Order: sequence, then C-alpha cells, then structure tokens
Amino acid sequence: MSTHTTATRRATTGLRVAVVGGSLTGPTTALLLLHAGFDDVTLYEAAPASAPLGGGLIGVEHSSLDILDQLGVSQHEFVRYNSETVMDITVCGRRRGSEHRHLYAGRNTTWTLLHQALTRRLPTGILHTGKRVTALTSEHDRPLLHFADGDTATADLVIFADGRASTGRRLLDPHRQLRYAGYVAHRGQSTTTESGLRDFLRFEPTDSGMQFNVAPIPGGTDWTFYLGATPAQYIDFFGAAPARRVFALPQHVTHAARAAVDASAQQYLPDEQAALVHNTTSRMAAAVMDIDPPNRMVWPVGTGHAVLLGDALAPVRPHTARGANNGIEQAAGLTAALSQHRKYGADLTTALHGWQHRYLPAAVAAVQLGPQLGRQYGLGV
Ligand SMILES: Cc1cc2nc3c(=O)[nH]c(=O)nc-3n(C[C@H](O)[C@H](O)[C@H](O)COP(=O)(O)OP(=O)(O)OC[C@H]3O[C@@H](n4cnc5c(N)ncnc54)[C@H](O)[C@@H]3O)c2cc1C
Repeated sequence: MSTHTTATRRATTGLRVAVVGGSLTGPTTALLLLHAGFDDVTLYEAAPASAPLGGGLIGVEHSSLDILDQLGVSQHEFVRYNSETVMDITVCGRRRGSEHRHLYAGRNTTWTLLHQALTRRLPTGILHTGKRVTALTSEHDRPLLHFADGDTATADLVIFADGRASTGRRLLDPHRQLRYAGYVAHRGQSTTTESGLRDFLRFEPTDSGMQFNVAPIPGGTDWTFYLGATPAQYIDFFGAAPARRVFALPQHVTHAARAAVDASAQQYLPDEQAALVHNTTSRMAAAVMDIDPPNRMVWPVGTGHAVLLGDALAPVRPHTARGANNGIEQAAGLTAALSQHRKYGADLTTALHGWQHRYLPAAVAAVQLGPQLGRQYGLGV
C-alpha cells in the first residue's frame, strides 16, 4: 500500500488503535476492528514469536461462536468434537454414582485451536511479538505506550487485552488486585484417547472438595483436576507464589505437584480416570484467583482513551466458563461502538461509555458467580 493511500485511509477512519495481548481477546478484537474498516490497528504481544504456546479446553457459547462466524472463522476449523452433552457424574468411594446429562449452549474447543484460527487470519504486519508493554503515559495529549525493549508507540485508543496479570489493569485500576482462591486447576493433555469419549464429563467426588473434568481433544484427552493447595504448597508445586505465577507451564510443574495430583487421583477418582491422570506426561496448571468486580472499563488518557477487556478487565474462575466468552462479546460490543463513531460521527467518549454501560454488568456477574460455584463444589476460601 502506498504512503498516500495509507494517509488517505487514516484520514477516513481517523483512529489509531493499539491492542495489547495476542492470546484470544486481543486477536479477536483486532480482527473485528479490521473487518469493520479500521485500518490503523496494531497488536502487541509480550511473548516472542518462538515461545511455545498451548492451552486446554474452552467452552465457547453461541453468542461468541456467532461473532467468530461473522469474522469468517468457521466452527469446523476449531471445533473438532461437536458434542453438546455434559455428563455430571457423582463419585463415592472411587465408584461412579448417579449421572445427570444436560446440554451446553455452545461447543468445546481448545485454546490452541482457537488461537491458531484467529492468528492465522491476522494480515501481515499487524501482530508485533516480543513487545511487552510496561507503562502508559501521554505525549502531545495522546496515549503513549512504553515497551520493555525501550520502544514507544502512540495511539488514540489503547485496548488492554493482556490477561489475568494485566499490566493495563495495574496501570489504570491499581486497587483491583488478584487474590488466590486457595485451589488450583491442574491440567493435563494425554496422547491417549479414551475409547468412546465424545462428551464433556464432570466428575464430582461427594466426599471431598474437588472436581475432575475430562473431554476429548484432537490426538488425545484433556483433563482438569481442581484441588485445594495452600500458598506454601503452590510455591512447592510451581516454584512461585500464585499471584506471581498465575499460569504454571509444563516446565514449572515440579515432581511434588505431579505426585500430589497423582495421589489425589488415586484416592478419589475411579480407576479409569486415575490411570488417565497417572499416564499423562504433559501437565500445566492455573491458580484460581479472585478479584473485586470492575466498576469501569474506560479511562481517559490525554484526549485519547484506554480500555480493559477480557481477563484484563475481569478474570473469572474457570468453572464459570465465561472468561473467553466475555472477552469475545466485549470485543464485538466495542467494535460496534467504535463503528458508530467512525461511520456516523458518534461522540467517541459517549460511545465508549455506552459500551461500558452495556457490558459491565455481565463482567461483574461472572466475577461474582465464581466463588458461588466454588462453594457449591466445596472448593476455595
Ligand atoms: C482451567 C481453565 C478452564 C477455562 N475454561 C473456560 C471456558 O470453558 N470458557 C471460557 O470462556 N473461558 C474459559 N477459561 C478462561 C479463558 O481461558 C480465559 O478467559 C481466556 O484465555 C482469556 O483470554 P485473554 O486473551 O483475555 O487473556 P489471556 O489468554 O490471559 O492472554 C493475555 C495475553 O496478553 C499477553 N500479555 C500479558 N501482559 C502483556 C504485556 N504487558 N504486554 C504485551 N502483552 C502482554 C500474554 O502473553 C497473553 O498472550 C478457562 C481458563 C482455565 C484456566
């Protein structure tokens, strides 16, 4: 594209947008904006391009699936098992008890499949990897991002989609800090496929506070085992405190963590599930964290703005199955508000506050739902 064309387009759309965070919410936001005609969008991701990435099972609701569909991200690309069935299975004395079947209003994917489907659609030059944002100031009244490598970048709108340990939240809303909820989502992906497994199975041992979920993924089986752990045990298991290491990658999972998870599986789960855990070499974990509900999503920065969305705004407990969904829905709502500004000259600040007014209640509700569900399962403080 010639410099002249770029300058002309910029004059038309007017808004320079910086999106921070290249996981799920960030790429979805960037694609939605590009699709809506914004052509000055840059996506900054802290991890280098060479970083090994991967993540587990995620349930995506119809509202989010439809947003992805409208972007041309077809479900067939990231939903490999199209079961809508969830089986809740009680477990007593390591034996399967009652089973209750219900349907999920969405489909299961994995972080890896969805991330790949999104990022492969980003036009060349949009995604800048290895760019960790460290600060946000203003220059000539416009937001100015600072990066760990010394670079800076201006924007009219900064969209922080930088996850649970968000730098954006620390800068814009510093009083809302993560609190460890007292338990861990231990995750594993085995390369063996459980015969006949097509649905999402949720095992609920009746004699102890824990939960074990299992579902098929391409090439194997994904499981999540929620187990209590004191802060000291967390350090022993993953080498750092929960707030410092909210995600434990395979290289952080110690022998002590493996042994503790295997022992709980052996003590509480039926033989088949205990064996699945024991035979899984690839393991990760996420500390379950709480946070005060947000009371805003938009901040003025000079004459520009910064917003928080996705886990950066409101990290929620995994049982809510709302984290990725919230991010995708908020991104679509934000794009709608910005489009009204771009196409019809709607006042930008008013458009952003309208977006906040529509999406804040759902984020607050999801934050509040997490501890309720945890208590129901006997998990957490
Ligand atoms: C066990 C488990 C099960 C879950 N199940 C579900 C489910 O069923 N349904 C659902 O909707 N959600 C689920 N979730 C939640 C879901 O995974 C998250 O909500 C989702 O990944 C959040 O996406 P995000 O893009 O907002 O943030 P993240 O995925 O946390 O990504 C943030 C990105 O920002 C980057 N970054 C961080 N700091 C900076 C910086 N300073 N500068 C630049 N880049 C930075 C990071 O490297 C990362 O790539 C689950 C989570 C867990 C742990």
